[in-house]
Amino acid sequence: MIFGPPGSGKGTQAKLLRDLLKIPHISTGDMLREHTSHGDGLGVDAESWMRSGRLVPDATVDRLVEERLLQPDCAGGAILDGYPRTIEQARSLKAVLSRLGMSQLVIHLKVDYTKVIVRIAGRRQCARCGLLYNLVANPPKEPGICDRDGEPLVIRDDDRESVVRERLETYERQTSPVLDFLAGSGSKLCEVEGNDASPAEILQRIRDCMVLR
Ligand code: ADP
Repeated sequence: MIFGPPGSGKGTQAKLLRDLLKIPHISTGDMLREHTSHGDGLGVDAESWMRSGRLVPDATVDRLVEERLLQPDCAGGAILDGYPRTIEQARSLKAVLSRLGMSQLVIHLKVDYTKVIVRIAGRRQCARCGLLYNLVANPPKEPGICDRDGEPLVIRDDDRESVVRERLETYERQTSPVLDFLAGSGSKLCEVEGNDASPAEILQRIRDCMVLR
C-alpha cells in the first residue's frame, strides 16, 4: 500500500514496484478515470467529485478494490496506490484482506506540500497510454508528445492549481489520519523520505525498508 499526498510519487513508485515484484498495480485514481472516460454511470458520478478535488464516496471505491483483489492475478499480492484514503476504506480493506488471508505493508512517501504543488504544476500525461512526464524532472523528447506512442500529452483535469489545493486539504483532513489508524492497528509501516531524490533512489529506499520489515 503506497501512501502519500497527491504528487508524492505514488504512481511512479507503484509502477516500479509492479515491475520489480511482478504483482498487479491497483490505482483507484486510474480505475475511476477509466470509468470516467467510458462515461458509464459510475464514471459520471465519480467525475464531479474528482473535478473538485474531493473524494469519491467510500462505497464506490471499496467495491472497485474488493472486486479487483478477488481477481486471480492478485493471489500473490498487489500494490495499492491511492487506497485506502479514509478510515472507513481502511476498515473495509482490512476485512477483505483478512478474508483473503493477506497482510498489509504500508509505504509512506513523505514529501513537502510546497514540493508537490510544483511537481503537479509540471505534470503531463499521455492521453492514450497514461505514461507520466514532468516538464522539469522528466520531460518528453519532443514537447507535448509521448515518447512511447507519439500521442499528445495532456494536463489532468484535477491538476489545476485551485483543485490541487483542495486535494491537499482533503488529504490532510481525511487521508493523513488513516496512517495513524493503520499504525495503531498493527500494520507494518515503512517511512520513506521522498523529497530530493530520483525515482530510482526512492525505490531503493523502499526496498531497503521492505527487507527490514
Ligand atoms: P492523486 O493521488 O495525485 O490525488 P489519484 O489519481 O490517486 O491522484 O486520485 C485522483 C482523484 O480520484 C482523487 O482526488 C479522488 O477524487 C479520486 N480517488 C482516487 N482514489 C480514491 C479513493 N481511494 N477514495 C476516494 N476517491 C478517490
